[in-house]
Amino acid sequence: MMNMVFKREMPTANVIQEMYPLSEEMRERKRRNDEEIRAIFEGTGKKLLLIIGPCSADREDAVLEYISRLREIQEKIRDVIVIVPRIYTNKPRTTGDGYKGMLHQPDPTHSPDLLRGLLAIRKLHIDAIERTGFSCADEMLYPENHRYLSDCLSYVAVGARSVENQLHRLTASGLDIPVGMKNPTGGDLTVMMNSIKAAQHSHTFVYSGWEVQSAGNPMAHAILRGYSNKHGQSVPNYHYEDLRFLSDLYEKSGLQNPAVIVDTNHANSGKQYDQQPRIAKEILHSMRVNGDIRKLVRGLMIESYLEDGAQTPEEGVYGKSITDPCLGWEKTERMLMELAEQL
Ligand code: PEP
Ligand code: MN
Repeated sequence: MMNMVFKREMPTANVIQEMYPLSEEMRERKRRNDEEIRAIFEGTGKKLLLIIGPCSADREDAVLEYISRLREIQEKIRDVIVIVPRIYTNKPRTTGDGYKGMLHQPDPTHSPDLLRGLLAIRKLHIDAIERTGFSCADEMLYPENHRYLSDCLSYVAVGARSVENQLHRLTASGLDIPVGMKNPTGGDLTVMMNSIKAAQHSHTFVYSGWEVQSAGNPMAHAILRGYSNKHGQSVPNYHYEDLRFLSDLYEKSGLQNPAVIVDTNHANSGKQYDQQPRIAKEILHSMRVNGDIRKLVRGLMIESYLEDGAQTPEEGVYGKSITDPCLGWEKTERMLMELAEQL
């Protein structure tokens, strides 16, 4: 027997997608976004991809305001940068405690309500497409839940705590959008490379109560996010030597579409969120001085929101992160304009 209460049966993804469908116009919008992003990973598109937004999407109003501001900037820098906003509705926690994202807590100050959460995250992703034209990025924390959002997302990341997990890898092999595999928290890049290899191949496995066969995902790629050493200290892996090392690993691997997105926060900044503009500039510099790095780096992942820093959920400041500290809007806008100028 199991020591848990089965509180209620959740509706299937098919039911939820039929209840809250995308309009034909929104589908077309996502198709066009997907095409532009695909070109970046296949090497035919030369723009830099920026996966940018709050660590966690804690409330719809602030997230939509943030993303609407991104839309205005996207129009100004569209010749050189493609923006995919982060709408992260599923949060992994280092100890398991704390806010687990809008899926668990549609209101961060109330107890978990997963049915309401499921509807809230689908509504947020749909509203983002409808109001801003962005189909967004989310973390695939629970692979079986991916289908609740699969028609809305243009990018998913497999997080540092999940990247060694078989179901994440096999599910990634069955998606038709780019999946970024983060280096694990311990920093071993072979774990990440093995994950990319698994995701690029076809597999037969059990998914959502079905025996399924995946096609293999040639757009599975690396994300460098820094790591923790044996003393629990953050160690960055965005420097020139790290990118050269990854380029060599890719060279030996025989993987398709060698690509990396570099995360400028997390253990790369040691969560010194205001270092992200400097880190981004250093990465662009490495790209300018080395052709292999230029080819490998396809984009950056940035944690940014309306307000600088972070707070506890109880503080309730609108547009301020309740998980990892984020770069506020003013600094974000300056950073994006400066990056575009340098490209
Ligand atoms: C995140 O992107 O907010 C995150 C949790 O990343 P990581 O898996 O790298 O810790
Ligand atoms: Mn984060």
